[in-house]
Amino acid sequence: MQGICLLGATGSIGQSTLEIIAQHPDKFVLINASANESVDKMADICRRFKPQRAVMGSEKACNELAQQCQGLATSFEWGEAALDSIASDSAVDQVMAAIMGFAGLKPTLAGVRAGKRTLLANKESLVTAGKLFMDEVAHHEVTLLPIDSEHNAIYQSLPQTSSGAHKRDVSKIILTASGGPFRTWSLSDMGSVTPAQACKHPNWSMGQKISIDSASLMNKGLELIEACWLFDVTPNEVDVVVHPESIIHSMVSYRDGSVIAQMGNPDMKIPIAYGMSWPDRVETNVAPLNLIDVARLNFESPDLLRFPNLKLAADAWFMGGTAMAVLNAANEIAVAAFLNHQIGFLDIAKLNERVLTVANIVAVNALDDVFEADRYSRHLALDMISRGKFS
Ligand code: NAD
Ligand code: MG
Repeated sequence: MQGICLLGATGSIGQSTLEIIAQHPDKFVLINASANESVDKMADICRRFKPQRAVMGSEKACNELAQQCQGLATSFEWGEAALDSIASDSAVDQVMAAIMGFAGLKPTLAGVRAGKRTLLANKESLVTAGKLFMDEVAHHEVTLLPIDSEHNAIYQSLPQTSSGAHKRDVSKIILTASGGPFRTWSLSDMGSVTPAQACKHPNWSMGQKISIDSASLMNKGLELIEACWLFDVTPNEVDVVVHPESIIHSMVSYRDGSVIAQMGNPDMKIPIAYGMSWPDRVETNVAPLNLIDVARLNFESPDLLRFPNLKLAADAWFMGGTAMAVLNAANEIAVAAFLNHQIGFLDIAKLNERVLTVANIVAVNALDDVFEADRYSRHLALDMISRGKFS
């Protein structure tokens, strides 16, 4: 029986993880769970799964939750220290890191430092603190399983050796991208899109922030950086290919000319179940892939003129140090401002570029450097938005 700590239980990944737990009560048990503000959803989760501990983002949300869940043996807690504590809890075997954004870094690292098997959906933690994060994973001999569908596909397509032999044989990683809802739109039409249009992903159903990132291709930029840290490569060894059907979730190209791909219907329950049950596999309720129905798979190059975020991410990787944390923070502010109708869709990439250009990039020697870069970049981005000075 695997005890799970689910960070971000009320989100899209959280809900899919709960479905896998519910489908396999003989294999998985929800030990601890967290949410930020969604009290009603969390109360449903607590009543249904009866976790030992439930952590909310604020005291108010925690009190409301406790009120709604009277009679349960669950301990109700709140705040950052509690979040770290449920991830490192001795009753936990696996941590599903499914908090949205940079807020996921600290508790995810707490789980890593406690040696827990780490199922990483929260790509922002690896993007911002990549080297330190991977050093901690190595130091604590943690099994790190990528949940992001592309990285999960790459993981499955790499040879499962511990010797690192794959590096010699792999010639390229091929990261697929759906292209998002505006793949075929003109730049001028993209200028006036609404948050509702940008959140409407053609193939995947996801949280708001990652949906906007998918529409602006920032998600693919973050994933490019994520792939570099996970698989010890540089952006020069990763090709991004737009594949609108989202059936091939990514590929690995070998030096003998072989290309290994992982396919499946676009449903996050597949990589989630893979991570939870690795090295075995368990059933999911995802419909089997019917290639006759799919009929055609298409591929094209990403358009960096309409989607500059992808190039910005590669630039940030090569700049190194705090550049990736700076870009991520600017983007989190930009996405929130777009969702609040403060800036336009195309302004997201403009703001990201401006912040990355003017920010002072320094080396990352300790985790504090990453937190400082995050604070500094958010401040810069907010200031630019308030003064309208970024295009
Ligand atoms: P979501 O917005 O649906 O859910 C986010 C969860 O995090 C919620 O439970 C929320 O309460 C919690 N949360 C948000 N802000 C928080 C904060 N400041 N402190 C503590 N908790 C907070 O997001 P999602 O779509 O489930 O994505 C979660 C993560 O997984 C993201 O990093 C995303 O990039 C990654 N991911 C998601 C998908 C997907 O299909 N949804 C695919 C790949 C990767
Ligand atoms: Mg992905």
